Amino acid sequence: MNQKEVFKMKQKQPPVPLGTLICRELRNEKVTKPNVKFGQAALAKKGEDLFFIKSDCQRVPGNPSTSFSVFAIFDGHNGTSAAIFAKENLLNNVLSAIPQGLGREPWLQALPRALVAGFVKTDIEFQQRGETSGTTVTFVVIDDWTVTVASVGDSRCILDAQGGIVSLLTVDHRLEENAEERERVTASGGEVGRLNVYGSNGVGPLRCWPGGLCLSRSIGDTDVGEFIVPVPHVKQVKLSNAGGRLIIASDGIWDALSSDMAAQTCRGLPAELAAKVVVKEALRSRGLKDDTTCLIVDIIPHDHLIFPQTPKKKQNLLNPLLIFGKRSQCSTKGANKSSVVGDVEELFEEGSAMLAERLGKDSPLDSNSGLFRCAICQADQSSSEGLSVNSGPVFSPASKPWAGPFLCDSCRRKKDAMEGKRPIGHAITA
Ligand SMILES: [Zn+2]
Repeated sequence: MNQKEVFKMKQKQPPVPLGTLICRELRNEKVTKPNVKFGQAALAKKGEDLFFIKSDCQRVPGNPSTSFSVFAIFDGHNGTSAAIFAKENLLNNVLSAIPQGLGREPWLQALPRALVAGFVKTDIEFQQRGETSGTTVTFVVIDDWTVTVASVGDSRCILDAQGGIVSLLTVDHRLEENAEERERVTASGGEVGRLNVYGSNGVGPLRCWPGGLCLSRSIGDTDVGEFIVPVPHVKQVKLSNAGGRLIIASDGIWDALSSDMAAQTCRGLPAELAAKVVVKEALRSRGLKDDTTCLIVDIIPHDHLIFPQTPKKKQNLLNPLLIFGKRSQCSTKGANKSSVVGDVEELFEEGSAMLAERLGKDSPLDSNSGLFRCAICQADQSSSEGLSVNSGPVFSPASKPWAGPFLCDSCRRKKDAMEGKRPIGHAITA
């Protein structure tokens, strides 16, 4: 058979039905796709902790080989309405900020920016309701072996990887522990100090004023200064095929247990039991002082049921990426890093509160309609109605339209307010 005949034969072969293709893809995927097993446990003191589990999301609706999972914890304060609102709306707001039709890799690359847009959009929408509560958010997206975590506040997500190496995937946005955030809040017009009671020199943790919140980032909190921002710290890592365990928990756990203690206390147990054991251990050491919620997610090879207990590797203490609750803040410089923590590859980490540094440089223009899409709320607007994220404040003569992604008028006002650049007459008052 010569080449021409082979070519003809190939042409004659009937097209493979889509169902067969998907089955084949699923069989291949089954070998490489991890098993995601999870468990949850909680004890309420004030009833302001909420959690969210959605293990059957699909990037392409109807195609199970594009599945991914989402896990989140919301620790509310001054009521639960912000936590409830975020739980109900955040995932949709994040997904709607990812362009349609992307393949897996570009989708994962677009995710960090979409998380920023989704968090800010959810905050704007909640604040428009005029309610005053707020919430921390720790939001985890798992797609195959890639884990992406976005967080505001002091709930935490840790990773227990193969070899017993425990690393922190979030940053604590507590004013007491985060000098970089204290500087940002002060530079944006807030005041940082302790509560003054009867002429004392200040009691309790550092808070920012007006408002008196101990956190520097949250969703909601309409009644405190706009320098309490909803812009999340985002970290994306890729696990080795050996997998890993995530422990996502509210501060009720972390005020009682270090990252290492939490990981150690539940190693070798199935996820459901592990979550109960972590909550019990936190209670044993501190009592029920706060809402205490724990989600355990095991990302394990498809033929495993439990994340295996492995002998501890010798840790390289000189490596600053091995984190044991010591590193309270990350560098805000340099968007795309790639380094290896144990067997875990670090794909992305960025924590800056400045939207210009988080939303990239391109301006998505729909060439058919000539409309610009707002990088935060995704509303389409004509070019005369908004400004670029990278231009100066609205009333600054240095404003340079179109030097970056487009923001609509309302998102633009939010950005200026978060950075302390309010137009004259709208200064923040104590
Ligand atoms: Zn907008």
